[in-house]
This record gives sequence, C-alpha cells and structure tokens, in this order.
Amino acid sequence: AKELGRDNIQVFTEEMAARAHERLQWQEELREALAGEEFLLHFQPQMNLGTGRIFAAEALLRWNHPVRGIISPSVFIPLAEETGLIVPIGDWALRAACRQLKAWQDAGLPPLIISVNVSARQFRERNWASRVAEILKETGLEARYLELELTESLIMQDVPGAIATMHALEAIGVHLAIDDFGTGYSSLSALKRFPVRRLKIDRSFVTDIPLDADDMAITSAIISLAQKLGLRVIAEGVESEAQVEFLQKAGCDEIQGYFFSRPLSAEAFESLLSSARP
Ligand code: C2E
Ligand code: CA
Ligand code: CA
Ligand code: CA
Repeated sequence: AKELGRDNIQVFTEEMAARAHERLQWQEELREALAGEEFLLHFQPQMNLGTGRIFAAEALLRWNHPVRGIISPSVFIPLAEETGLIVPIGDWALRAACRQLKAWQDAGLPPLIISVNVSARQFRERNWASRVAEILKETGLEARYLELELTESLIMQDVPGAIATMHALEAIGVHLAIDDFGTGYSSLSALKRFPVRRLKIDRSFVTDIPLDADDMAITSAIISLAQKLGLRVIAEGVESEAQVEFLQKAGCDEIQGYFFSRPLSAEAFESLLSSARP
C-alpha cells in the first residue's frame, strides 16, 4: 500500500464520483424511459418439437432510447435492478405482454402462452402474486395463458419465501418455469418442491452441441430429470439443425432460438403466427 500515494487516491475518488454520477444519470434516464414509453417488447416464438407448432412466445424487453437507439436488456436490466426501477419496469413488461396476448386472442390468432421474465426484486415485492392477479384482471387475460420465468438464483436466494410466492401464483392459475436451468445452485431435492411446469435449459449448455460431450451429457441429464419429475423441458439458444436433432433424440419437448426465429417485433410476430394458422 506504500505505492498508493495521494495522487492515486485522488484518481480513485474521482473515478468513484464519476461512477456514482453515471449511475444517477442512468437512473434518471430509466425513469424518463418509463414515463415516456421508450420501452417495448419483442417476442420470440417457442416451438413444440413434436407438432412443429408455435405454442408460446417469450416477451423480451427492449429500450428504444431517443439518442442511443435500441439498448439491450443485458445492459439496462442490471442498472434497473441496482436502482430498484426494475420493479415498475418489470410490471410494465408484464402488463404490456398480457395486453398484447389479449389483443392477439381477440383478433382470432391461434392460442398461445406468453412467457414473461421476472427479476428477483420484483418477485420479492410484498403481495406480488396479488399484483399479478390485478394485472391479469386489468388486461382481461386469463391466468392460464401466462407463464412466468423465474431464475434458479432468484429462487435460491430465499427458498421458503419463493415457494410461498410460487404457490400463491399457482393458486391464481399462472404457470411457472425455471429459466437458465443448470446454471444456479438449486438442489435437485428442492426442485421437486417447486410448483413449476417447465424447465428451460440454459443456452450455455446448448451452444456447443454437438461438439462438447460434457454439455451433451448435461443436457440429456436435465431432459431425463424433467421427464422423471413430470415437467416439460425447453432448450433455449438453439441455433443449428444439429442441435435440434440432438435435442429431439434426447426427448426434449420444445425449443427456442435463432434456428427457428429471432425475437420479433409485435407486428412481425403476428404475421408469423397468422401464416402458421391451420
Ligand atoms: P433470458 O431470459 O435468458 O432470455 C433469452 C435471451 O437469449 C434473449 O436475450 C434472447 O434474445 C437471446 N436468444 C434467444 N435465442 C438465442 C439464440 O439462438 N442465440 C443467442 N445467442 N441468443 C439467443 P435478450 O433479449 O437480450 O435478453 C437478455 C436477458 O434480459 C434475458 O435473458 C432476461 O434475463 C433479461 N430480460 C429481458 N426482458 C426482461 C424483462 O421483461 N424482465 C426482466 N426481469 N428481465 C428481462
Ligand atoms: Ca427468460
Ligand atoms: Ca434464459
Ligand atoms: Ca440467460
């Protein structure tokens, strides 16, 4: 620490001040974004491997910044989480997703499930399940068409609390999925106590199929685990035909990824769905 002279300390403090300033600025911009309707949703289809049909769409948040253009959620979600703004932003996404699906239903499009991501801060809000119920009522969407994606790490932060909220959501009629499965530390024994319908195999295990034997072994193991527990299983980040073939042979129920479709604007998704109409 002898080398850490005055100048260094000064630089360090300036840097911290700059970072704090930047954080405040982001916070301000996120708040304006929420008020100014700069957020929008894209929709990525999920396909059933047995029927070849789109059965669901994952709603993915986008920020159309007036100066910076489209900003990815991997950039602004962590900032929103840090500042707590993820709670109103996440609620906005949930409401917008429910409203969009209701509009598609009213327009006579084929039945579909909408899958919405939930952040830990949001999930831990007091009476969050009743907030979800309110949003469903407000948008007129039936609960059974909504699926919430919870990450393993969100659940593991407080297992008893998470199970209680999951049961409250289940009681409303909403379905649950575990997102990014395999990346967290959820014990397999805890898994059977979770009222979930679907496991989403994390993209990191899918990416190197069929080159990485370990990833293939892990993916197969997750699929058979899901089957034995009576859960549905979807692989995310599926980009190639070889991956589809492997997953199909391994007994995976569903896929999501660029191979089938990138996330689409509401309009583009709607025309995809209309063209797939039986
Ligand atoms: P996620 O929930 O794991 O979502 C899947 C991400 O993988 C999406 O990134 C999607 O565009 C991307 N993806 C889908 N298929 C492929 C593929 O074949 N290859 C590759 N390389 N990527 C693929 P996106 O849209 O950038 O979202 C990133 C993350 O931001 C999401 O990861 C999710 O954790 C978070 N996020 C998005 N929307 C929301 C939201 O409304 N609320 C919350 N709390 N988080 C959200
Ligand atoms: Ca997700
Ligand atoms: Ca995921
Ligand atoms: Ca992920």
